[in-house]
Amino acid sequence: MRKVVKFGGSSLADAGQFRKAGEIVRADETRLYVVPSAPGKRFPADTKVTDMLIRLYKTAAEGGDVDAQIARIRERFEEIVEGLGLNIDLDGEFQEITRVMKEEPYLDYAASRGEYLNGKIMAEYLGFTFIDPYDAIFFNEEGALNSYKTEKVLSAMLSETERAVIPGFYGQGKDGKVKTFSRGGSDVTGSVVASAAKVDVYENWTDVSGFLVADPRVVNNPVTIHTITYRELRELSYMGAAVLHEDAIFPVRSKGIPINIRNTNKPEDEGTWIVESTAKKPKYTITGVAGKRGFCAILITKAMMNSEIGFGRKVLQAFEENHISFEHMPSGIDTMTVVVHETEFMDKEQRVVSAIHRMAQPDSVEIESDLALIAVVGRGMKSTRGTAARIFSALAHAHVNIRMIDQGSSELNIIVGVENKDFETAIRAIYSIFVETRL
Ligand code: ASP
Repeated sequence: MRKVVKFGGSSLADAGQFRKAGEIVRADETRLYVVPSAPGKRFPADTKVTDMLIRLYKTAAEGGDVDAQIARIRERFEEIVEGLGLNIDLDGEFQEITRVMKEEPYLDYAASRGEYLNGKIMAEYLGFTFIDPYDAIFFNEEGALNSYKTEKVLSAMLSETERAVIPGFYGQGKDGKVKTFSRGGSDVTGSVVASAAKVDVYENWTDVSGFLVADPRVVNNPVTIHTITYRELRELSYMGAAVLHEDAIFPVRSKGIPINIRNTNKPEDEGTWIVESTAKKPKYTITGVAGKRGFCAILITKAMMNSEIGFGRKVLQAFEENHISFEHMPSGIDTMTVVVHETEFMDKEQRVVSAIHRMAQPDSVEIESDLALIAVVGRGMKSTRGTAARIFSALAHAHVNIRMIDQGSSELNIIVGVENKDFETAIRAIYSIFVETRL
């Protein structure tokens, strides 16, 4: 068994958290490759080091005085180094950062220094080899990961290194400069390293014990998801249940490597397993429920629509021409509904309506706003009868009026549209019927 372990910012926010991460790595000798984030928040009102660095870059780019900010950033790292009793001299590192900020400041370099320095400290603390992703992770001209080159170079390096620390979040751009992934990108690095090293598990250590069946801000103390498939995760994260960077899925998924989300503050919890496919029966019929507010539904009616070839295409073209992507499209015999994000649609509303009239000549176009969409997701739904009925009766009992229903033929999820004001009541009712009463 071989593992890659990635630690998020809150797991490395100070010396105390670093120590917990160190214990986790030492507790299991199969934890061979460590991917650290930059130090995150130590308390809710604290500032993440990455955000301090981005601010530093802005000051530098405007020609402002960077010294005080650099000193504050340095304090965060000195506190960790001292707290761990390490003997690392950060002088040279900070001289170089100061030089770049004064002479040729650029954003990605600044933003990446939190991971870089945390990586140096972690390597020293664990006694592992430091691999700079600048030499191992490459981006292409479009700014996307160059997986081919990265895989080749990184796997060669890792095959010669038994234990290593590879900082998250950045690599080398096509122009030879440091380049970062988008925010939260250390998750992607973890996945890329796991794939290149062909490990058995990618452990992603954070400050929660895995994914929860529902949003804890809506449902009181929701249970944890034990196992979720990549496809289920995609459905839930699309609806806003975010714990993992989206691009972190592909590299490991294509190699069949499972991701295990774990809690640095509660290492005894098993966390959540994200897998390609599983024979494990889910404990509940649903794996998760998540949703978003702020959708609009455009209802298009036309007599004999069902026999008119090309009608749907013409309607969708009206949206395409206005650069609006649609979310769902449930349809009836003579009706078709297109669901879009309110914020994307509002300004272009009348243009879209007239385009639909021009292109598809419908009988009527009606717009409904203030809709919330809720996705009830679960691989267990396929083999269970009456899931939809249970959702609908739970919502009826909670006095929630359903405005729209959409079930894909994969039977992995059922999407219901309700009014914005009923959003939380609806999520609680669905959670309660499936998890608390375990129907
Ligand atoms: N430190 C970076 C950020 O705050 C990347 C990461 O933590 O994954 O976005």
